[in-house]
This record gives sequence, structure tokens and C-alpha cells, in this order.
Amino acid sequence: MSESSQQQVNEEYARQFMPPGRRQPAVVQESAPEPTVEPPSAESPAPAEAMPAEPDPPALDGAEPSPSANGAAPERAAASAAVPDLSPALLPEPESDGADTAPPYVEANDLFKIYKPADLEVVALRGVDLEVRAGELVGIVGASGSGKTTLLNILAGLERPSAGRIRVGERDLLDISDRDLVAYRRQEVGFVWQATGRNLVPYLNVRDNIELPQAIAGAARRQRRQRAEELLDALQMSDKTRRYPSELSGGEQQRVAIAVALANNPPLLLADEPTGELDTNMAEDVFRMLQRINRQFGVTVVIVTHYAGISHWVDRVVRIRDGRIGSESYLTTSYRGEDGREEEYLVVDRAGRLQLPREYVERFQSLNGTWDGLASTGMADDGGEITLRPASAPYRSRERWEPAPRGDNGARSA
Ligand code: ADP
Ligand code: MG
Repeated sequence: MSESSQQQVNEEYARQFMPPGRRQPAVVQESAPEPTVEPPSAESPAPAEAMPAEPDPPALDGAEPSPSANGAAPERAAASAAVPDLSPALLPEPESDGADTAPPYVEANDLFKIYKPADLEVVALRGVDLEVRAGELVGIVGASGSGKTTLLNILAGLERPSAGRIRVGERDLLDISDRDLVAYRRQEVGFVWQATGRNLVPYLNVRDNIELPQAIAGAARRQRRQRAEELLDALQMSDKTRRYPSELSGGEQQRVAIAVALANNPPLLLADEPTGELDTNMAEDVFRMLQRINRQFGVTVVIVTHYAGISHWVDRVVRIRDGRIGSESYLTTSYRGEDGREEEYLVVDRAGRLQLPREYVERFQSLNGTWDGLASTGMADDGGEITLRPASAPYRSRERWEPAPRGDNGARSA
């Protein structure tokens, strides 16, 4: 690696891990930060791979940002398990419940991302609506290529969206200067990658790995140590502080990766298939830790995953298909507090758009014979039920397109 590209890598790495001034008590700065750990070198794959190149935002033709002014996506049923233990008399009216009225921490509306690698355009996100409340733990699932990583990278400030709206905390990530985007990455997000080797510096022990981003951010040694201990304690890794990554299991490496991502105390933690390389036991372990971090530190967590049992570990599962959010599911809890069934709901956005489940589309098509892509609709008197029937528009049927015989004046017999 050339010196200048190494310097870029180091700068980018430093940017990602600067101190979150907003969230941390003022750091008592030692006269000069004296890192006990070395900055990453060219041998280290971690920082280099940790920052994908930022492509220029391509122009988006024909996709106007949503005009809906307040831009709120549909209200979602509260999924938080943390219900305060209040007697019914003390419970606030639903309207005055702050949790319902507080704006969501993450709010995306009609979000588009278009890549243009060569001549052809790839629409990776096509109108994503997503809300995540502060302190929520959300799983994102979907087939490969459906846009999960793209969405997460936009949330991480690693890529810019092409159109739509996206706000995280106070920041509008569409209309944001490069400088503010850097500040956002430094202060407000932690990221855990799938490849365990990408999250940690191999020649630093566990504690130094967690102290490194803090050292780069200029945190004092005592504070760094304290934070590392606090995180390792929460992640049940206190007995392995002096181990090197190669002396840890994959699951343990990912636990340390979580600690590294949280070292500078960001309010949002993102993980892209963090258990993709792990077996089931280790995967569950990592989800347990992510859940613990979420509950203990109040960090908002978004996890992209293929793990089938994810609904057991998160408040809500969001399913993305072809660049749109099609449905959400929740694990219902029985009155005895046991986990019940997973209930899946279609997402209907404010513009009335929804994505039918694929199996519905297939049956729908087969009912109609020739697929016109049309449906006739009906609604029950009370509005509680909508029906959708495959339909053919009369003017589309083939015989009507036969040119009328001459002299017929276009009149058609019934
Ligand atoms: P997932 O994470 O769900 O597998 P991605 O977000 O990685 O999906 O990709 C969504 C779509 O965008 C895919 O069709 C993918 O090929 C395309 N894509 C992703 N990144 C790029 C890129 N940098 N350039 C061109 N196309 C891309
Ligand atoms: Mg992906």
C-alpha cells in the first residue's frame, strides 16, 4: 500500500472513531494523547477493509423525493418489551404517551439508492420507508441482493442515498455536507462487520483493540481503560482482556468487535450479518450480547441477518425485498410471558403502497391466466377489509386490438 493511501486509511479510521462530544462527559485531556497502542499499520487488514470507498451519489432521474411534508411512515405497534410497571390508574393516556409522540430515532422515507457501475443502473433501494425508535432493537432480513447492506451503509454514513429522506437523530443524511457526514460517522454510529477478521486489529490484544478507537479520539488512558472494562464486563469477556484475536473463537471475536464498535459510546450500533461466519451456538451468543448491549446501555441496534431465529432476539423484524420494505414481524408473547408465534404484517406506506408477498403474487397471476398486472378492488362497508381480484382491462384484450374492418367506422358489435 502506498504511503498516501495508507494515510487516507488512517485518517478515515480516525474519523470513524472520534469522540462523541455530545454523549460523553468532558474528557480530561492529558497534555498530549499518549497512545499505548500503535495506530494501524499497512499489515493490518482491519482499518483498510473497514472503510469501503464512497461512490459519488449518482443522479436519479424520474424519482422525485417524496413530497409528504412531515414524512412520517405509518405508526407501528409498540414492540418494546420494556413496559413500565405501573398500575392501570397511573398509565398515561395513549395520546400523551411520550414514547408514541417522540420522533423516531431513525426515519427513512421513500429512500432510493441507485448505483451506476457502468452504463446500466442498479436500483438497490426503491422507496424504503423505515422508522426505528430510540433504544429499539431491530433485525433486517431479506434475500441476497435485496438491498440490506445498502440500507445499512447509508445508515452508517458510508454511502449517500440518491433520493428520498433519511434522518438519524438530528442529522439529515441526504442533505448533509461531507464534513458533517464525517462528524456523524465519528460520533454517532458503531459498525460490526460480518468478517470477524475485519473488525479487529490482529496484533493487538482484546483490551488494546477496544482502547484503540478511544486513543485515536483522544480519550485519556484511565477513561479508555474504564470503558474497555465496562464493555468487556457487559460482554462477559473480562477474563480474556489479554488474549489476541487469533486466540479467540469466532463468537468471542464478534463480542470484542461489538465492544470496539461501542468504544466511543455511539447511540447507534449497526451490524451487517455479524453471525454469518458463525455456527448456531455462537450466533445465538452474539445475538444475546447485542440484546444485552441494547437493554443495558440503551443503544439503538439494527442488525442485518440471515439467521432464521432472529425474531427471538429482537423487538421487530423488518423484511426487505427488491429494495423495498415489504413486511414486519413481531414475536407475540403469551400472557404467561412465553414467546409465542411470529406474526407478520404487510407494511402499507402513507401513499398506500404495499408489496404483496411473492406467493400471493404467484397465485394471483395463475388465477388470472394472462397476467395484465391489474386488480379490481373492493372494500367492506366498515372499511375493515379490502379485497383484491385479478382483472383484465377490456381494452387490453387481444380481440379488441384487432384493427376494425374498413367501413366499420370503428363500431364494434357487443
Ligand atoms: P444485500 O446486502 O441484501 O445482499 P446489497 O445492498 O449488497 O444487497 O445490494 C443490493 C443491490 O445493489 C444488488 O443488486 C447489488 O448487486 C447492487 N449493488 C450493491 N452495491 C453496489 C455497487 N457498489 N455498485 C453496483 N451495484 C451495487
Ligand atoms: Mg449484504
